[in-house]
Parts: sequence; C-alpha cells; structure tokens
Amino acid sequence: MSTLIHIPTPLRAYAGQHATVEVEAATVGEALRRLVERHTELARHLYDGDGRLRRFVNVYRNDEDVRHLSREATPLANGDTLSIVPSIAGGAEPSAPAPPRGPRAAPDWATGADGKPALSQDELLRYSRHLILPEVGLDGQRRLKAASVLIVGAGGLGSPLALYLAAAGVGRIGIVDFDVVDESNLQRQILHGTSAVGTPKLQSAAARLRDLNPNVRVDGYETRLTSENALELMKPYDVIVDGTDNFPTRYLVNDACVLLGKPNVYGSIFRFEGQASVFDARVGPCYRCLYPDPPPPGLVPSCAEGGVLGVLPGVIGVIQGVETLKQILGVGESLVGRLMLFDALAMRFRELKLRKDPQCPVCGEHPTVTQLIDYEQFCGLTPAAEAEESAARWEIDAKTLAARVAQGDDLVLVDVREPHEFQIARIEGAKLIPLNSLPARLAELDSSREIVLHCHHGQRSMRALEYLYSSGFRKLKNLHGGIDEWSRQVDPAVPRY
Ligand code: ZN
Repeated sequence: MSTLIHIPTPLRAYAGQHATVEVEAATVGEALRRLVERHTELARHLYDGDGRLRRFVNVYRNDEDVRHLSREATPLANGDTLSIVPSIAGGAEPSAPAPPRGPRAAPDWATGADGKPALSQDELLRYSRHLILPEVGLDGQRRLKAASVLIVGAGGLGSPLALYLAAAGVGRIGIVDFDVVDESNLQRQILHGTSAVGTPKLQSAAARLRDLNPNVRVDGYETRLTSENALELMKPYDVIVDGTDNFPTRYLVNDACVLLGKPNVYGSIFRFEGQASVFDARVGPCYRCLYPDPPPPGLVPSCAEGGVLGVLPGVIGVIQGVETLKQILGVGESLVGRLMLFDALAMRFRELKLRKDPQCPVCGEHPTVTQLIDYEQFCGLTPAAEAEESAARWEIDAKTLAARVAQGDDLVLVDVREPHEFQIARIEGAKLIPLNSLPARLAELDSSREIVLHCHHGQRSMRALEYLYSSGFRKLKNLHGGIDEWSRQVDPAVPRY
C-alpha cells in the first residue's frame, strides 16, 4: 500500500530536505517506522525516549487526526496521505523586555442611541465599499466601530492585521508589544518604516494606524504579556489575535482566552509555511486540544534562526484579519475547528479538522488548569537570569578569542550556521558544520583539542555546545554574540547581516 507522507518545513532538514516521502505501509505506525528507518535523524523529533509518538507532533491521515481514529494502528488504504503537523511558533521577534508602562490615553467616541456608535458623514464615505455589501452594511459597520480587538505582537503577523483592521474601521485596537523597530524587521513588518528604526514599535504602529484611519482608537501596552497582566489586559477586548513567536506566550494567550471565554485568532509562520485557525473553547477546540504539550526548547527553530519569506506573515496575518472581521460581523464560516495550512512554495492551502479534546487540561471536561501558570517553566525554559549565568561559564568574547588566535593557541573554530550564511560572512579559518549535521559529523572533531563554536548571534552555537557536552566533549567555548560580535569588535571587514 503506497502512502505519501508530507514532511513539514521544520523537519525537512532531518529528512534529506524532502517535502514528501513515499512509503509502503498498512498502518500509520508502520508508515512512520518506514519513514524513520529511511531518515534516522527524524526519530528523535517524532518519538520520545520510550518510543512513543511525541505529543507536540500530530499526525493526520488525509484530513483526520489519527488520535481520533485508531492512533498508530489506523489502517492505510492505497493513495492515503499522511501529514505530520508539529507545533510551530513564528510571528514577532523575541527581544529583551522593557519596563512595563500603562495603556496610553486615547479619546472615547460618542455612542449612538441604540448603544452602537453612530457613523459620521466622513465615515459613511470612507466605508462605502463595506456599506454596499449586504453582509456588512450600515449595521455591520457600526458593529465594527463598536468592536475591540487586542493584537499580541506588532511584528510580522500583527503588521498587516493591524493595518487592515484599522482600515476596516474596527473601533478600538489594542496592541501589546515592548520591542523596538530593528532594521531586520522591515523585510516583513510593514507597519514600520525606515525612519522608525530604533523607536518603540508601539509608537510607529500607533502613528501609522492613526494616519490610516483617525476614527480608530489605538491603545498601546508597552509590556510583555505575562500571567500577572494577561487577564486584565485581555478582558476589555472582544477578540484576541495571537501574533506571537514563542511558545510560552502562545500557551498563555490560549489559556487566558479559554478562562475569559474569548475567541483566539491564531497564526504562525516558519520559512515558507504558515498555519491559521480560530480557537474558541466555547464552541470548539483550543490550542491545547491541538498541542497539549509544547516542544522541548531548542527542537523547533524560531524565525530569527530559520528565516521567513517576508510576504508569508502577510498572507497569514491577513487570514487572521479576515477571521477577526468575520467574528465581529458574525458572518460566514469561521476557522473554528479547522487548521489551515499554507505552503507558499507549492502555493497550496490545505485544511485539517480539529476536534475538542475531552481530556484537554484547560477546556476539557475536567480541567486541571484553572488559572494562569508559569509558562516559561511549562515550556521547559530556564528563567532568563539563570540561563545567562550558566551560559557565561562557557562563553568567550570576541576580543579575547582574537587575542588567543593571534598568539597561536591551539583552537578549533567551528561555525554551526548554514552554508548560505557562511557565504555571506565567515571568520577566517573556521570549519563549517551546520547545527543539524553535527550529530552525523561528530567524528570530524577531536575532543582533546579546545573547540570554539560560533553562529550568527550565539544561540545555535550554545545548543551545539550543549550537544557536544552531552557527547563527552569538555574543552568547549561559545563565542558570545557570534560572528556579528566578531564583526563589530574585531574585524569590520566581515559583513554583518
Ligand atoms: Zn482545549
């Protein structure tokens, strides 16, 4: 029985870069075993130490989740396809938190006699293309004006979304973001312009949105969304849109939405692929019904490490925008209970059914999560301060490394970035072993010599260091700040990117 298995982008590096793999198998379990026999590196991504399928990896036969069929014993007929759907993050960029500040003052608007706001003559003209749509009309437009939407993250997903919601006349748009506009954001975060580099994203977002539509109230929250502030921040809003890029915030947004009984419009992106859905535990599944557990830290790369096609968050963010408007207007068929998968390279949308899990820890029949928890801990992340302290033990700064190289110390420089990054910039004498191929190329390294690892900014090389340590290597150092720091501190001839 021939079965085609779709391999998602994050896992393709472990499957010889194949998008699909064809196997002969009678059941789902057999098909997956055939797959990992052929691509052994996939095994640790799909199975845990006890040989069980990992919980953050979902497998679909055609468009059905095998957990709702016979799991790994689910039979396969000729021509069936299997999709492996891991949880992916993607969205805004991570960065250090800024001190929290309260919401900014914004004018209230006048309300109409029936409680819904009235439209001015200017607004009637501005929204005329909506007003002539029977599905929106005057009533729908006033609903949009009365509505409020909270966007978590003013990054790649939040940018197109906020622009379209403001243009559409959503009355109140809240944005939670504590980041500053960086040059590397501009490739996709279309809310921000070159003149805003170095200024808070909230500031440039608010200015752009007010220029686009002065009838819209924009509330900025320059803070990190935390278990302490999430319920209070989200409470006043009708719809919450998840534009985050990290798992702790994603689970936090989900749980807070379930507890508050609000719809959570979800999107995530990675390289050329995206996902979108609407989680609303009142009428359908939540994010935890789909992914009860987060992936272990480091197993799923972020956009900052893996890259993302600039227009991809545009597609996914706009889908989130469409779903948000439909939620407010109460029209059409929402994405509740459906996961939309978009592959930009194949230019293909696929759709998978999602079901509510009666065992779901937050929206199931016997919930165990009844208040917000510590999401950093839940996602297996060490608190930032602790992680920094342990990383410092292994780090070497660029100037010290340069001095040691100059005095002829016996060092092996290993670059764990990707070959296309190596093409852009490299440190003279460094040996390229991309992080993904490290396990297969261990034999090329001599554990008796001191190994200095580096990547772009120092995160991937830290993971490489952990891996080498667990493989018995002890004479290890990680170049703090990566090749970027080398370029800034030692050799400006090495291009920064
Ligand atoms: Zn749930």
